[in-house]
Amino acid sequence: DEFTILLPIVKNAEEAKRIAKRIIDNIGRRVSLAGHELVITPSIGIAIFPDDGIEVGQLLKNVDAAMYYVKHGGKNNFEVFAEEMNQATARRLMIENQMRQSINYSFDGFSLVYQPQVSLKTGQIVGVEALLRWQSEELGAVSPVEFIPVAEESNLINPIGEWVLNEACRQTKAWHDEGLPNIRVAVNLSVKQFAKQNLEQMVKEALEETQLPVRFLELEITENMLMDDVEGSVDVLHRLKELGVCLAIDDFGTGYSSLSYLKRFPIDRLKIDRSFITHVTSNQGDASVTQAIVAVAHNLDLSVTAEGVESADQLSFLNGLKCEEVQGYYFSKPVAPDDLKRLLLVNQRLGEV
Ligand code: C2E
Ligand code: CA
Ligand code: CA
Repeated sequence: DEFTILLPIVKNAEEAKRIAKRIIDNIGRRVSLAGHELVITPSIGIAIFPDDGIEVGQLLKNVDAAMYYVKHGGKNNFEVFAEEMNQATARRLMIENQMRQSINYSFDGFSLVYQPQVSLKTGQIVGVEALLRWQSEELGAVSPVEFIPVAEESNLINPIGEWVLNEACRQTKAWHDEGLPNIRVAVNLSVKQFAKQNLEQMVKEALEETQLPVRFLELEITENMLMDDVEGSVDVLHRLKELGVCLAIDDFGTGYSSLSYLKRFPIDRLKIDRSFITHVTSNQGDASVTQAIVAVAHNLDLSVTAEGVESADQLSFLNGLKCEEVQGYYFSKPVAPDDLKRLLLVNQRLGEV
């Protein structure tokens, strides 16, 4: 799925760019195949002889760096090589190597923080989302937005994801055993884990090992992961559902899902993406989309969690829609286990009053 195009007679970068644009316009066209709309999103890197290399090896290496740059920047575009792109590649390589090291030292440097999910009906914390953090010895704290894509590309996400699942279940079971309110834990699944054969087995083992009752585990899967391969997804979701885990669609509204598929997925919850909630009280469009998502969810008997709630105004808007749960800085940022315990204790006391 990678091609090299040699343009022996272009005069300058501008000309190469024009050609790249034409290629994208042409192969990026929608194709209708057996009732499915297919769309190709190419990424094109451009390197120019002799500026970007005087021999084939160097030219190809730089063209690759430019292509990856486009790929990570959202695809369906082209870019001419620049020296910074090699720096970006070097940083990714560094992150990959450092992550390998952390994994080898029994996941040293990896930790989980937990963000409360609050029921609008009771005001109680009913669940938490487990979010991964990584502190590298050499690089310091690296954001998951940066290291998770690297982990996915290098397949390190499989051992890391398994660690996350086990750790989240273990911690939640420990809270239950301490007599704290019996909350649910939501774990994010990466597309690489979702496509793997042994996912169901991994989930089963984590639950057995930690003794967390299955109904307290929720798995978050993004909309695009499901739409990649609808038939396969229906199958995987059913097998997970049979175990008894809760299933949520993450970042809902940002991908391109078809509502007709939604009812075929055995899911329990939709999580409305933060990008809609941010301006929900000031932008009519976002308000309408949010309203529509809640209506669709409720018609399909699904529960709704709004993400990224930061203000009282947003909260009351969501309350008006009868959205079930909210998550966001308004209540708490993701916090370390000890801090979450404190939040649970305060919440418990308030509940008793
Ligand atoms: P996500 O699953 O959509 O997680 C929510 C992100 O929004 C988190 O960022 C959280 O800290 C942030 N957030 C929550 N409430 C608010 C708010 O009120 N305002 C703002 N501005 N932000 C808020 P974080 O922790 O940096 O995680 C980023 C992404 O990394 C996650 O997005 C998820 O896609 C991925 N990720 C994190 N942990 C894991 C993991 O264990 N496995 C996998 N596969 N992905 C993970
Ligand atoms: Ca999530
Ligand atoms: Ca999300």
